[in-house]
Amino acid sequence: MPIATRAFAATAADQPLRPHSFERRDPGPDDVAIEIKYCGVCHSDLHVVKNDLGGTHYPIVPGHEIAGVVTAVGANVARFKQGDRVGVGCMVDSCRTCSACREGLEQYCEPGMTQTYGSRDPKGQAVGQTITQGGYSDRITVDQAFVLKIPDSLPLDAAAPLLCAGVTTWSPLKTWGVGPGSKVAVIGLGGLGHMAVKLAAALGAEVTVLSTSDRKKADAERMGARHFLINSDAEAMKAAAEQFDLIINTVSATHEIASHVNLLARDGTMVMLGLTTEGLPVFAMPLLWRRRRIAGSLIGGIRETQEMLDFCGEHGIVCEIEVIAPDQINQAYERMERSDVRYRFVIDMGRMAATA
Ligand code: NAP
Ligand code: ZN
Ligand code: ZN
Repeated sequence: MPIATRAFAATAADQPLRPHSFERRDPGPDDVAIEIKYCGVCHSDLHVVKNDLGGTHYPIVPGHEIAGVVTAVGANVARFKQGDRVGVGCMVDSCRTCSACREGLEQYCEPGMTQTYGSRDPKGQAVGQTITQGGYSDRITVDQAFVLKIPDSLPLDAAAPLLCAGVTTWSPLKTWGVGPGSKVAVIGLGGLGHMAVKLAAALGAEVTVLSTSDRKKADAERMGARHFLINSDAEAMKAAAEQFDLIINTVSATHEIASHVNLLARDGTMVMLGLTTEGLPVFAMPLLWRRRRIAGSLIGGIRETQEMLDFCGEHGIVCEIEVIAPDQINQAYERMERSDVRYRFVIDMGRMAATA
């Protein structure tokens, strides 16, 4: 029997999210059926709802920072059982045979991963629908290969955003070998940025935050940043030139990056994470003169997501969250657009009954 699901969905780019209902598939042999307890609100959800990237299919239920509890498992599922605390991130499937999938980098799947929401849906994630629907909902059924274990030491609400904000910042920190002695800068102290600070600091790096104002300075230092710069402060930017091995750029809008490139040390890399669609002017000279690089990174693979969750469990790292009811999502989006989030909204699905 398909599973009745209550959700919040966007019906058009200029419409508020509204209550919505649909059905999830009944678990097949490899599936895990999950009652969603909490779902984080990522800036990507807002980009998709507003059709910033183009190609959004409405109605769309966003949400890819899912934490919940297993309600049922299929016959082939041995790793999970009813009652387990689990997470689902940005992907619910991939081809599993291409070279990226074989390396555990399903996010770079060559034919394309199946994203948790908004992807063509070959396996009927949302019954009778052609695209996947995400975690602003109270139920989801996911193939066991894309379900993560949430360590017992982490509360489900504050762990939910680890499934995207956590792994998206963890992956480049690991790829670029951050550890004791590394100097890391994080641009933008939002959902991704605050996780980058905590994770980089826990890996032993000396962390600097670059922000648009000094409003978040005390928070940044509490999270583990040793230094804090306002990126419009030309003098401070000049003084910080040539210092960083890695810059994690989490800015969610088109912005000036040339002055930030000068902050990289020789062989340093700036990793772009923000989903900006307009061109960002970069000059060749500052790159070639110090063999600097500008790179990109997309979420993280399933294996590294579990590794990140386990690391957070061992180090007691969670997201700083503001818990909201499902019907507060539209105000949350307005605040996110003003960078007024400390530091992730998380929807409490237990409050769905009262609102949907
Ligand atoms: P967020 O919580 O809204 O944080 C973004 C931060 O960027 C803000 O807090 C602000 O930091 C800064 N910012 C915003 N507008 C700015 C502007 N015009 N100029 C300079 N700084 C600005 O967003 P998020 O959820 O962390 O996501 C950040 C970006 O990463 C989004 O574009 C999102 O879609 C993308 N993303 C990418 C991936 C991936 O796989 N690559 C995964 C998840 C999200 P301050 O207040 O400190 O200035
Ligand atoms: Zn996200
Ligand atoms: Zn693949």
